Amino acid sequence: MKLKVVDPWYADGLKFQCTQCGNCCTGGPGYVWVSQVEIGRFAESLGIGRTEFLKKYCRVINGHVSLKENKNLRGEYDCVFLKEIDIETDGKPGKKRVCTCYDVRPLQCRTWPFWDGLLASPEAWKDAKKTCPGLDRGHAYTKERIEELRDAEDWPDRPPGST
Ligand code: SF4
Ligand code: SF4
Repeated sequence: MKLKVVDPWYADGLKFQCTQCGNCCTGGPGYVWVSQVEIGRFAESLGIGRTEFLKKYCRVINGHVSLKENKNLRGEYDCVFLKEIDIETDGKPGKKRVCTCYDVRPLQCRTWPFWDGLLASPEAWKDAKKTCPGLDRGHAYTKERIEELRDAEDWPDRPPGST
């Protein structure tokens, strides 16, 4: 008997373009997992040893390494590499949250929003829109590209935002 392959709900592709709002780097408590290879990349980029990197920036949860979080004044949990900087827009002062390790950000950050959880259903994708204004706008990703990013085990050549 031949099994019928059912197209996923995103078979026609999805749109995504980051607005750089910084929301995905803060919010409720969570985890940003880093692999052993990524720990080495972080340490090299910061010019410190692996042990120092782990001590300063990481925590171990059930044998897995995640970046630390800092609770901000609004009660949100910021990734240890998220920083609020002063900016000026049209002559008006304001604030912007930026990733201070963008070039070595881990796989988890590189492949957002094409995660298993968000792709599980249109409802999950819609729910994520409450905090990520980049969903359903800008660049179109095919089903193949979406699944390539979803299944990546190390940094993809072309993470979302680069294509
Ligand atoms: S929440 Fe979405 S739009 Fe905002 S920084 Fe993260 S990916 Fe970009
Ligand atoms: S590593 Fe950078 S992109 Fe990833 S959660 Fe932290 S601040 Fe955000």
